[in-house]
Amino acid sequence: MNAFNLLKRFDALRRGPHMDRQFDHICDWIFDLDNCLYPASTGLFSLIDERMGAYIERLLGCSPEEAKRVQKAHFHQHGTTLAGLMQEHGIDPHEFLEDVHDIPLDRIRADERLGRLLPRLPGRRFVFTNGDAPYARRVLEAIGVTDHFDDLHDIHASSYRPKPDPHGYALMCERFCIDPKHALLADDMVQNLVPAKQLGMTTIWVDNGSERGNHGYDETVIDVRVADIGDWLESILGDDG
Ligand SMILES: [Mg+2]
Repeated sequence: MNAFNLLKRFDALRRGPHMDRQFDHICDWIFDLDNCLYPASTGLFSLIDERMGAYIERLLGCSPEEAKRVQKAHFHQHGTTLAGLMQEHGIDPHEFLEDVHDIPLDRIRADERLGRLLPRLPGRRFVFTNGDAPYARRVLEAIGVTDHFDDLHDIHASSYRPKPDPHGYALMCERFCIDPKHALLADDMVQNLVPAKQLGMTTIWVDNGSERGNHGYDETVIDVRVADIGDWLESILGDDG
C-alpha cells in the first residue's frame, strides 16, 4: 500500500458514521472563494469591477465610459481584464491585483456554521481562486475560516491563466500532489467545473445566482447542484459533530 492509500485509509477512519457515503473517495476538498464561500448577494465583485474601471481610467487617462469599453474588450478577447492589460499595456500584475482588491469587506459576515463544518471534512482543504492570495486571506479572515484551509492556489500560482483555463488546475494538482479522482471542486461558475470534471474530479455547482454563474451550463459536468455551501456541508456531514 503506497503512502497515498495509507493516507486515504487514515482519513476514512476520521469520517463520521453519518457522513454521506457519496463522498467516501474524497481526500482533497477544493473551494472557489468569491460567491462560493460567501453568498453572491453580498455584491462584493461589483466593488472590484469598479476599481478595475478606475485603474484603466488612470492608466489610459480616459473617460469612465472608455475605460469600461476597454475593460470589457480585454475580458472578452483575453479571458480576463488582467490578461489583456498585461499583454497590451505591459502592466505589473501584482500592482494591478493589489489595487483592484483594495475594497472594504464590511459586506462579509463571519460564518460560524462554516467555521464549524469545514474542519469536519476529512482530508485536506484548499481555496482555488482567480483572485490573489492577500485578498483571499482577507476574505477568509472576514468569514472566520482561515485556519480551516491547508493552503490556497491563487492567480499568480496559475501563471495568470484564470479558471476555467485547464492550466491552473494542472498546476494546482501538481503543486499539492492532488489526485483529481479523489478531489472535489465546489464553484459558483458552471464553466469552472468543466476542466475539473475532465480531470476526474467530483464537482459541486453552487448555484446561488452569481452573474454568469450558469454561463455555458452543461449538466454533464455537474455532479451535485446546491444553493448554499453551508447547507450542503451540513447535509453531507450529518449529525456526527
Ligand atoms: Mg466564484
